[in-house]
Amino acid sequence: MAKRIDLYSMTEKELCSLAETMGEKAFRGKQLFNWLYSGAGSFDDMTNLSKGFRGALEENCSMCLPTVARKQVSVDGTVKYAFRLSDGEVIESVVMSYHHGHTICLSTQAGCNMGCRFCASAIGGKTRDLSCGEIMGQILAAQKDLSVRIGNIVFMGMGEPLDNLEQVLKFMEIATCEKGLNIGYRHFTLSTCGLCDKIVLLAEEKLPINLAVSVHSPFDSQRSEMMPVNKKYPLAKLVDALKVYQAATGRRITVEYALNKGSNDSVEHAKELMRLFGGLLYHVNVIPINNAREGFYKSGREAVKKFVDYLTGQGVSATVRRELGADISAACGQLKHQVEKS
Ligand code: SAH
Repeated sequence: MAKRIDLYSMTEKELCSLAETMGEKAFRGKQLFNWLYSGAGSFDDMTNLSKGFRGALEENCSMCLPTVARKQVSVDGTVKYAFRLSDGEVIESVVMSYHHGHTICLSTQAGCNMGCRFCASAIGGKTRDLSCGEIMGQILAAQKDLSVRIGNIVFMGMGEPLDNLEQVLKFMEIATCEKGLNIGYRHFTLSTCGLCDKIVLLAEEKLPINLAVSVHSPFDSQRSEMMPVNKKYPLAKLVDALKVYQAATGRRITVEYALNKGSNDSVEHAKELMRLFGGLLYHVNVIPINNAREGFYKSGREAVKKFVDYLTGQGVSATVRRELGADISAACGQLKHQVEKS
């Protein structure tokens, strides 16, 4: 059987062309697009489309959402999903509730090839990239399950979003569409381990999204040990790429910095971090590291405070990230397969 066309991977324009190739007027594609993002459960729900068109869609296309393989709810309201994709692959997404609404942390790949030593997603490497429709499916399935509207998206789940940039860009194009999810670009945060070439490509798109970069050490030797990607893209290159990004978008960069006890949490580290990023407009998001892998332990309260206070004392904007979903291992870097593949 020929592979079905995944409608959630298509822009409104592509759906219009699809409608035409199926012998319909182009505007039927717009109607189809509306249905996809207004909760239609099946083609039969799409009552303003002819029976013939609905039948042809049923035969050739799919509008499948991932299934919930496992759902865990934290005492703080954070919800972690293990979603099963159509080929049995399992990925994870996390929904966090803040006073300003709901945020979803999306996976962009099944597994990850970047090899960060402290991160659970790196164990076992990358199985495959997710399609745009599979990225979309996570948010639609979560919204349906929780009966809420999700207004903020962070690409901080499994995978390296810039290693799957084409699908991530297409997903954002559909998600920002008024008739899609109607989420403005400013409500997206893309987190990268620092793929410089791709940061420059992203800069060319001039999208007003937030870019977060996982730094974790301002010293090349240490960063290379924690993050093998640093061997290809060392810190000086990373800062250059971020300058290009900032010049193109005018957006403040978020520096993600996970504190590992007695290792990267000294004032010397904070000082060097400031020196390194001195030419940029940036905010430091300090994360007490999660013990997802051996050799990495949360810094004590005192050390975290000292690190942040040093930065803020020097006029650098810095905050400690709230740890949501800690009781269900939903925090940064803890996402990994806990459900068997079918
Ligand atoms: N690949 C992207 C996005 C996924 S990870 C990236 O590297 O940025 C999202 C964030 O969680 C990154 O900042 C990552 O470095 C961080 N992270 C991974 N493992 C962690 C851990 N054990 N404790 C704290 N943060 C972790």
